[in-house]
Amino acid sequence: MLSLFGSGIGRGIAIGPAYVLKNSDIETPQFTLNKQQIAGEVKRFKAAINETEQSYKALLKSLPKDAPKESAAFINAHMMMLRDPMITGEAIKIIRSELVNAEHALQTQADNLIRVFEQMEDTYLRAKKGDVQHVTNRVLRHLLGIVSHSLDEFNNENLSGKIIVAKDLSPAETVFIKDRKVASFVTDLGSQISHTAIIARSLKMPAVVGLHGSSKIISDDDVLIVDGMRGIIIINPSIGVLKEYKARQTKIRARERELNTLTKKPSRTVDGQRVKLMANIETAKDIKGLKQVNAAGVGLYRTEYLFMGREQAPTEAEQLREYKRIASGVGDIVAIRTLDIGGDKQLDFNYPNKQSSSSPLGLRAVRLCLSHIEIFKPQLRAILRASAFGKVSIMIPMVSSFDEINQVLAIIKQTKAELKSEGVAFDPRIKVGGMIEVPAAAIMAEVFAQKLDFLSIGTNDLIQYTLAIDRVDDAVNYLYDPLHPAVLRLISLVIRAGEKANIPVSLCGEMAGNVNYTRLLLGLGLKNFSMDATYLLDVKGRILNADTTKLRYLVGKILSSDNPIQARDRLNALNRL
Ligand code: PEP
Ligand code: MG
Repeated sequence: MLSLFGSGIGRGIAIGPAYVLKNSDIETPQFTLNKQQIAGEVKRFKAAINETEQSYKALLKSLPKDAPKESAAFINAHMMMLRDPMITGEAIKIIRSELVNAEHALQTQADNLIRVFEQMEDTYLRAKKGDVQHVTNRVLRHLLGIVSHSLDEFNNENLSGKIIVAKDLSPAETVFIKDRKVASFVTDLGSQISHTAIIARSLKMPAVVGLHGSSKIISDDDVLIVDGMRGIIIINPSIGVLKEYKARQTKIRARERELNTLTKKPSRTVDGQRVKLMANIETAKDIKGLKQVNAAGVGLYRTEYLFMGREQAPTEAEQLREYKRIASGVGDIVAIRTLDIGGDKQLDFNYPNKQSSSSPLGLRAVRLCLSHIEIFKPQLRAILRASAFGKVSIMIPMVSSFDEINQVLAIIKQTKAELKSEGVAFDPRIKVGGMIEVPAAAIMAEVFAQKLDFLSIGTNDLIQYTLAIDRVDDAVNYLYDPLHPAVLRLISLVIRAGEKANIPVSLCGEMAGNVNYTRLLLGLGLKNFSMDATYLLDVKGRILNADTTKLRYLVGKILSSDNPIQARDRLNALNRL
């Protein structure tokens, strides 16, 4: 039995067998050979190609009947690439001419091809570099004898009840496991407010991230306990420990049943203050969870997941279908956030000119949309068209300047005019809001509020930018603190700006779903919360017991704290009231 500590996600506990994923970056060894070894090396390489081909064929055979058509097409395309002389033939030439091992020769040729694809004008051809690396990785795994799994369209194993163990998971991979009834996941890297973690919460899935080296210690089918609340995993627990955790699992379930009795209760504080509790969603599949807790609409719909894990952007028609489905399925207000790509969320397809940046300070969110109008415009058209079928609003992520807001509003105005001239229906009074996620926007909220219909505070990013901490970097995760007085003062500024302009202000970062902060946020004057549906009833429980008239004094003290430790002590006092 061995315990490891990381950052926990979710309230629950999962118990199940481990399913260890391959390291996404395979380390390719490099060594030189003498002339006598060349024939053997080429033979080894050809054998690996044959094995890879056999594994593709086996995959093709095992595809379920209802698998999407693209799956078979994908596998066939990769099989063809495997036999392409530009890959295998050239790699053999490199083995012979440079007297190097097969792995190094193959990776060298793959890198050559990737460089060529990267320079291509055509978006479709540029995207081929991903396929080259995919095929190369499969051959490398055969060459290196790495027996492990991958989470992609080729994986059709039964993952039900399994606990995924990985070095890291991308948000796209996390979405992939959404449908696979996986019990939990644990990763070496990552932080609690990465998008991967956010999706885990929406899956009601306990998980632990930032475990450093867990993927090297854990083997397939080891029994794991994942305690999302405490951020602990236990590998091959003793019978006693297993019993204790099963008892805790039963208690958690009983608590959930208790919370369910709050579903129909109006969300109101003891002193009669109404508080709107909305849900954050990523896909239409999340509507069920939102209905179960009786959420008052969607305060944040992260549309980027419709764009991720695919080879081309969804068309206007496809987006319209999805937004309509969500608007009518929710039957209440849905704040559709325009594409928020960049940082830890990346697209698999390329688009002309400037690409999204993996730096949180780079070309992302509204910045990217404004420099890629060919992506932004169809999305705006689809959202506007969906507004004819439900209570839809447009929410712009990461606004940072007045100019940016003016540009977005001008594009929306122009798009409306186009739709009108085409005779296409939309809500002409559709509300347009901005997400306050950078300190500049929080400081300027009073000015921005004059132009916008609502504000939504994205604390995940606001904290990242205020405290200069990359939200996905676990090395600085310990500095990520919602209670930092600088963060609290900015939140307060935004709420005051909304009050002054008489427009709604909501908060849709992870902070909204953390019951430790419910009283604090109420005391700051927040009246609209948006969070993952799994937290909503817990937060409602706190609201039903809170008296905002008694909160103000202590909240004022927290705001004037000179350091986070003092703020934490004062928060504890507030929560004990
Ligand atoms: C936020 O930044 O708080 C937010 C809600 O947006 P996301 O987590 O998708 O960046
Ligand atoms: Mg954000």
